[in-house]
Amino acid sequence: MAKQFDVVVIGAGPGGYIAAIRAAQLGKSVACIDAWSTADGKPAPGGTCTNVGCIPSKALLQSSEHFEQANHHFAEHGIEVKGVSLKLDTLVGRKDTVVKQNNDGILYLFKKNKVTFFHGTGSFVSQSDGGWTIKVSGKAEDELVAKHVIIATGSSPRELPGLPFDETQILSNDGALRIPAVPKKLGVIGAGVIGLELGSVWRRLGAEVTILEAMPDFLAVADQQVAKEAQKALAKQGLVIQTGVKIGEVKSTAKSVTVPYTDAGGAEQKLVVDKLIVSIGRVPNVDGLGLDTVGLKRDERGFIAVDDDCKTNLPNVWAVGDVVRGPMLAHKAEEEGVAVAERIAGQHGHVNFATIPSVIYTSPEIAWVGKNEQQLKTEGRDYKAGSFPFMANGRARALGDTTGFVKVLADAKSDEVLGVHIIGPMASELIAEAVTIMEFRGAAEDIARICHAHPTLSEAMKEAALAVDKRTLNF
Ligand code: FAD
Repeated sequence: MAKQFDVVVIGAGPGGYIAAIRAAQLGKSVACIDAWSTADGKPAPGGTCTNVGCIPSKALLQSSEHFEQANHHFAEHGIEVKGVSLKLDTLVGRKDTVVKQNNDGILYLFKKNKVTFFHGTGSFVSQSDGGWTIKVSGKAEDELVAKHVIIATGSSPRELPGLPFDETQILSNDGALRIPAVPKKLGVIGAGVIGLELGSVWRRLGAEVTILEAMPDFLAVADQQVAKEAQKALAKQGLVIQTGVKIGEVKSTAKSVTVPYTDAGGAEQKLVVDKLIVSIGRVPNVDGLGLDTVGLKRDERGFIAVDDDCKTNLPNVWAVGDVVRGPMLAHKAEEEGVAVAERIAGQHGHVNFATIPSVIYTSPEIAWVGKNEQQLKTEGRDYKAGSFPFMANGRARALGDTTGFVKVLADAKSDEVLGVHIIGPMASELIAEAVTIMEFRGAAEDIARICHAHPTLSEAMKEAALAVDKRTLNF
């Protein structure tokens, strides 16, 4: 017999599990279905983010940064360490433990909030007066009926045409997070967030890393001043990044991968590496959902078509996260999940797309929110800019990490903050202040007049805001 719920959520990544919890908090009976399994077949909720994305990549970035510090920077602090060596099994095992803690945490949260979890694949069967019927195919089969369905099935890595991932030589983000031995030479196709983060991990652990990017400009999505600073800093660390390349037919054998390409100057080149990470974007997970059975529309790029409220073309069917338009970010998925759950409960959930922060966890970290200078110029907006370098920040000097700066962009007349761009230590944490100010439509003067603790990196934000009015105190 079919099991009845108010809401069925398909997918337990950050979009889905957060939507399920919020709907349950608001008094709805909720089921959440997720297909992800551990190697031994156990449920592993948390989606891409927890299993092969945000969490494991940050665990590896942290471990590899410790290795880098021990090898190259402890000596500056007067700490001599001899014979630093790497136990890759332990490093990767720690990452797996962190992932499992997150999987278990989500199962605990489901129990705590009385969300019923189903391990398997969810697909639409039909619609009736009672609502939508969803089939769960897993070790056991179940049929669920619910008035509301939230699709949160996420995305998968895009392959290069004719070059399927084998996760041994040709790696997606999944294989790139569990390479069994540090490759001597590693190639990365795509200098986006994922390519830069994963390239950084293996470079720090000892690989020679070359990143090939088709776009002519490095990090075209970022403020170009930040992108230039990042390119300089990453090159100094030994990451080779080539932009404006055209990739030819990649050949892979058991021992090596050969990537022929035309460089930006038009010369034919060949990159021979032990392993190749392909990080050229992601595609929405829509196969097997039975979308055609119920007539659910997709947009021209294959994503589930939704309006600003995450409503699909079908009544009471919603979609959130990577499977719909917008930035592929865990926090964007979460915000949409909360907003949809609140709308289902008759509230007015809202996502402000203008204040979704972007972060790249390289060293130095890069983070921004709002408009960059290129965008403001294109829009013809009259703006003022203020920057402050970490070189002039006491805490950054004490940390021994002075690369980069904070830049605040504000409207020339009203002084409202339009964008904040950071490259430097803990940019991922510092950006939260800028998001808060922008959410309240605050001015650069507001940041400048807020008391910031000393000595902290956050003083660079205050000084950059002071610089908007040409009155920095420490530079
Ligand atoms: P997902 O997390 O992809 O979850 C979807 C879930 O649905 C999966 O568990 C999947 O198995 C399940 N599913 C799919 N189809 C079905 C079905 N029919 N039935 C049942 N279950 C199904 N974002 C950040 O914000 N910060 C970061 O630092 C960051 N780092 C990243 C690093 C890497 C290497 C990668 C690859 C991504 C990273 N991202 C990061 C992006 C982030 O992981 C995604 O934006 C986020 O996971 C999207 O959440 P989601 O809930 O939409 O989908």
